Parts: sequence; C-alpha cells; structure tokens
Amino acid sequence: ATPTALMVGTGRGAQLGILIKGPEVLESTRRVDTVVLDKTGTVTTGTMALHDVVAAEGTEEAELLRLAGALEHASEHPVARAIATGAAERVGPLPAVEHFENVAGLGVRGVVEGRAVLVGRERLLTAGGATREAGAPELPEKLAAARSAAEAEGRTAVVVAWDGEPRGVLAVADAIKESSAEAIARLRALGLTPVLLTGDNRAVAESVARAVGISTGGPDDSGAVLAEVLPEEKVAAVHRLQAEGRTVAMVGDGVNDAAALAAADLGLAMGTGTDAAIEAGDLTLVRGDLRVAADAIRLSRRTLATIK
Ligand code: ADP
Ligand code: MG
Repeated sequence: ATPTALMVGTGRGAQLGILIKGPEVLESTRRVDTVVLDKTGTVTTGTMALHDVVAAEGTEEAELLRLAGALEHASEHPVARAIATGAAERVGPLPAVEHFENVAGLGVRGVVEGRAVLVGRERLLTAGGATREAGAPELPEKLAAARSAAEAEGRTAVVVAWDGEPRGVLAVADAIKESSAEAIARLRALGLTPVLLTGDNRAVAESVARAVGISTGGPDDSGAVLAEVLPEEKVAAVHRLQAEGRTVAMVGDGVNDAAALAAADLGLAMGTGTDAAIEAGDLTLVRGDLRVAADAIRLSRRTLATIK
C-alpha cells in the first residue's frame, strides 16, 4: 500500500467519525473476520437505572438501600452509579464508607455503619468476603427468585450481603442502544462473526444478544456469547479466538476492556468511553456509534483494494 492512498483512507475516516492512530492500522482492519463486542457501554448505553429492590425476610428495604447505596457511592462502575443514585433518591443522604475495596468484575466491599457490606455477583460472597455457614442455601428462595426474574428480563442483578448474610437483591436496567441491531446486521453483511463478551451474567448476556441479533449458540460462524468473563480473562478470550485462526477486532469502552483492545488484531474504542480504552485502541469511534465499526472495516477494505 502506498502512503498516499493510506492517508486518503485516514482522511475519509475522520469524516465518518473514526480517528485512526496511524495509516498502517488500515492493513490489519482489512483482514478482520471476527468482531468481539463488549456489552456494557458498547452494545448497551451503559447508563443504568435502579429497577428492582428486593429485601430478604427480616431486612428493611430502607436499610438495604442505605448500606448498599453508601458502598456503591464510592465506586465508578455503571452498576454502582445506578445503585447509589437510586438509593439516594429513595432514602436520602447516604452514610460514609470505611475500608472500601473494589473487586474487579465481581463487585465492592467496605464497612458502613459498622457493618461489613458486600455488593456484587454472588461469587463475591464466596470470594472470602462473607462467611456463609457451610451447607447454607446459596441465596434465600425469595432473593434467588427475584434475581432470576430480573435476569430473564435482561437486567443486571447483584446481591447485597452484610455480616455474612445475603440481605437483598438489587437489579439495574441498561438500555440497548438503538443503533446496535443495525450495526450488527452491517457487520454480518460484511461477512464478519459478532461475539458478545461480558462480565455480566449469562442470562442477561443472552437476552441482550437475542435483541441485537447475535447467536446464543457456540462460537461458530453465526456468532457467540461469552459471559461471566472476568476483566483479566477478556484478553484470554481474544487469544483463544486468535488461536482458532481468527483475525479479531475488539470493540470496547471500559477500563476493563483496555488489555483486550490491545491484544486484539484491531482495537476499536468507543469515543464515549474511558481514556484507558481510547489509549489502548487502534481506532476510536468518536461518537460511540457501533455502526461506524462496520464503516471502518468497509473503508479499509475499499482503500486497500484501490491500491492493489
Ligand atoms: P462488563 O464486562 O459487562 O462491562 P464488568 O466486568 O465491569 O462488566 O462487571 C461484571 C459484573 O460484576 C457486573 O455485571 C456486576 O454484576 C458485577 N460488578 C462489578 N462491579 C460492581 C459494583 N461496583 N457493584 C456491583 N456489582 C458489580
Ligand atoms: Mg463496557
């Protein structure tokens, strides 16, 4: 490829709302056959709102919201913001947190009003946080039912526990971007395989996948859903697809996507996302519009075809 033709491609990219790190990026773009999409903030808006509040028997809803809201107020995760905002709206000013700790991909813990509080995936309860008695049920039936119902509707449900006992379930709703289904149809039209990658629960991931036209089967030609993937496992997921002989583009927005964006053959960062993602990516989709990912791939193919 001649430098001039590549520069033309780069200029056209800017018009479309794509920032390209260097002209050589177009070369790897052309070979891409698989597009891995982060869910939260990429396929969905990432702007979540508190939707379900279910307290365990013997727990007051106001206390559940006060303790969980206070803890989440110290976190910047989209789930945390929704819970902190929703709790403050319902119960007023939130108390202070001590010994705050973020457990990446699982949730948060800290001390609020003298209680050791956890908010996050159920795995966090067994990850050395809460000391559940041996043989005790995973979650009381009321909470397990609330969680399943929320997840079946595509909402992200987290468990709240303190002093070793599950106390409630909170679920947040995140809207799928209006443009996502069309974006995925465009990627498919280019012959690309879309794969949804998320740390979120499988039921939520599959509900989102179905809504946007990603297959919920295995990683075959029709697409795939990779759920409950911890932030540090996202890189391994990209490497596994590459080991299958695929040339992988990764689209993401979060701090937890940065390493996977760097590991992919082509990293596309949402311009609406974090600085860490933008720095790690080869391309930035300035307006955070996933349809532009397909434009970028089409543009690079066309640019390089003209040169040949
Ligand atoms: P994604 O890959 O979808 O961007 P993350 O890896 O950031 O998601 O988080 C995965 C899951 O971990 C979330 O869906 C949520 O269940 C849980 N989680 C992470 N951080 C928090 C938090 N601060 N509060 C509650 N739950 C959290
Ligand atoms: Mg994300």
